[in-house]
Amino acid sequence: MKNYIPYGHQWIDDGDIEAVIKVLKSDWITQGPKIKEFEEKIASYCGAKYAVAVSSGTAALHIASLSCGIKKGDEAITTPITFVASANCVLYCGGKPIFADIQPDTINIDPEKIKNKITKKTKAIIPVDFAGHPCDLKEIYNLAQENNLTVIEDASHALGAEYRGTKIGSCKYSDMTVFSFHPVKIITTGEGGIVTTNNKEYYEKLLLFRNHGITKDSSKFSNGRACSAGEKWYYEMQELGYNYRITDFQCALGVSQLKKIDKFIQKRREIVQRYNEAFKDIEEVVTPTERPEVKSAWHLYVIRIKKINRRKIFESLRQENIGVQVHYIPVYYQPYYQKFGYKKGLCPKAEEYYKEAISLPLFPRMTDKEIDRVVRVVRKNVYS
Ligand SMILES: *Cc1c(COP(=O)(O)O)cnc(C)c1O
Repeated sequence: MKNYIPYGHQWIDDGDIEAVIKVLKSDWITQGPKIKEFEEKIASYCGAKYAVAVSSGTAALHIASLSCGIKKGDEAITTPITFVASANCVLYCGGKPIFADIQPDTINIDPEKIKNKITKKTKAIIPVDFAGHPCDLKEIYNLAQENNLTVIEDASHALGAEYRGTKIGSCKYSDMTVFSFHPVKIITTGEGGIVTTNNKEYYEKLLLFRNHGITKDSSKFSNGRACSAGEKWYYEMQELGYNYRITDFQCALGVSQLKKIDKFIQKRREIVQRYNEAFKDIEEVVTPTERPEVKSAWHLYVIRIKKINRRKIFESLRQENIGVQVHYIPVYYQPYYQKFGYKKGLCPKAEEYYKEAISLPLFPRMTDKEIDRVVRVVRKNVYS
């Protein structure tokens, strides 16, 4: 049997390993200087003022949701074609996720469909840059401004992507942007995530929620007496926060990985071009699109199988040790969501997409041989 090709995989080199070891041998393995350095480097790479690094992308979504004040009775609009975390963060805050349908070409949330879902209860929009392809962020941000809503962009797939000439994460069209550093994502810290923003108020809230809601900054104390009395041990818990801190050795890995992001994305693009070329004459295989105003980070390569049975193709690929996946099951199909009464049929375009989608392996370290093998096996099974 030929070796297994996963759908995504990290690329860790000796430089990454040395960077981590160096921190492990230092005085600070957590709450030290590497965290700030990583945050500054991500902020500067994206072109944002602030960044707050945390223990996962999910934690990043949670503190972003808390920082914009989502609470019981509030609604936030997101896409059904995403990882469950994009909607769960609303539930964590006691709010209700509302699902708006997708555009069939980009698989991203449709601004027109968002418009129909805005109510008096709506607090935020959580668009997801699916597969690394930025959403219609300008339209979404305009909608949000007209209705006084916060945009939390879930760019877990899209570090390094561009939209109308600006990097995703610059927050030109969002209030906060979230990234994940899980090993299958564009760069990795093992587990990890970050929120970028240009808004100082959000920034300060994010810092609080990351660390138990505790501040040691005397200018922010509500109890001035303790501090003027010179109680140097004094700190204040002002919100119910969490321990969502990331470690210094993870951030050292992040800093080292970030140096290679251009190469990683270039490799992804090359693989995408090879796939596109290989499948262009196959009617049953629809390849992904990239709109002219964007540069995708190409986290995923999703083909849509037309006319023939998707499940049969999927199983044949798995049988041949090719780690295909389906991204994603519509979130509201999940039993936990079904319990709340979300009905099938809610987002017809998303549901139709879900019947046809297969993610093929795509990661920067894929060899030409592996790419050829995936192409060969797809062709063989479509024509069999
Ligand atoms: C990976 C991912 C997350 C969650 O990130 P973790 O770092 O795994 O917690 C959130 N949203 C989307 C769209 C993702 O792909």
